[in-house]
Amino acid sequence: MPHTGLMTDSTTCAWDMAPCRQPRSGKSKYCVTHKAEARERWKRMIASQDAARESRTAAHADLFARAHKAGMEAAEAVTPTTMVVERHANPLDDNSPVVERWVEPAGPCGFAWVLVRPGNSSFARWLVKAGHGRAAYNGGIQVWVSEHRQSIERKSAHAAAFAGVLREAGVKAYSQSRLD
Ligand SMILES: [Zn+2]
Repeated sequence: MPHTGLMTDSTTCAWDMAPCRQPRSGKSKYCVTHKAEARERWKRMIASQDAARESRTAAHADLFARAHKAGMEAAEAVTPTTMVVERHANPLDDNSPVVERWVEPAGPCGFAWVLVRPGNSSFARWLVKAGHGRAAYNGGIQVWVSEHRQSIERKSAHAAAFAGVLREAGVKAYSQSRLD
């Protein structure tokens, strides 16, 4: 095999920040000095990636907290529609005598939730990781409103305000509800 420049290069330091003629250190492609420097550079890169991840996580947690607060406030501002419920002798005939009558001060019952789409955004994935959301049946991530007992009016107001805060932050979010 003829001696080539390439073969000579494979024995000297491959430091990319400046030319270096020092021999390589052991199995490293760098000289002793640059091996240490490369290791420090790598550690700094990992640290900055960790810092970026931490600041993203903090931003997600802050957004969630603000959305939750807006949801709670919106729900508390709602006065549920008091419902009078009547039970007829014949449940299939509204003209049959009323045998029981009671008041539901909390109004109609139901569920509400917020759908975040798409489900693979950084925020959506954080929701799942933090235990705030789960995959929705038709795609996206679903955040359930578990507060306000069974009041669909309060839950809906909560979901709407929550979704509104997310949308202001550039996250696609929709509030949904259904009667029990
Ligand atoms: Zn070197």
